[in-house]
Amino acid sequence: MLDLSGIVTDSIVDGPGIRTTIFSQGCPHHCEGCHNPETWEFGTGTQMEEERLLQIVEENPLCRGVTFSGGEPFAQAEGFAKLARLLKEKGYEVASYSGYTFEQLLSGSDAQRELLASIDILIDGPFLLSERSLELSFRGSKNQRILDVPASLAAGKAVETTQVRWQGES
Ligand code: SF4
Repeated sequence: MLDLSGIVTDSIVDGPGIRTTIFSQGCPHHCEGCHNPETWEFGTGTQMEEERLLQIVEENPLCRGVTFSGGEPFAQAEGFAKLARLLKEKGYEVASYSGYTFEQLLSGSDAQRELLASIDILIDGPFLLSERSLELSFRGSKNQRILDVPASLAAGKAVETTQVRWQGES
């Protein structure tokens, strides 16, 4: 069961192509300049089963990828890991934002490592107002990286994706 602040089924701003973006409710980071401060408070969203979310994603035949956003998806790592596994079984590319860095998540909880192991792309790190840039694809500030998660896990360190589509080109 996940606690969500919203779902957008035709996003073009949270990764390449038409994606479903699932916004978790609750965020411990409280970044200055956050665009979604209404997602900070825990336990105040809409409860949804992972299986129902898969159905909602499948209702859009144009959707090829799913992005977890927030709030902080890794604060509900167990539920998002379950959802990621269901989505991967159906062939969707799964990306997640996190206010934690890859390094922090690697030494995080078992559930956080399980979620890492279940996704393709991680856009990591908090939003830093001092590093804000409007030039970046799919990111708000320059400290954030777009990581190839399987390659990062294999290497034991952060590996940025080389996929051109994640650089903002089609
Ligand atoms: S991690 Fe994201 S949702 Fe959380 S405070 Fe920072 S910018 Fe806002």
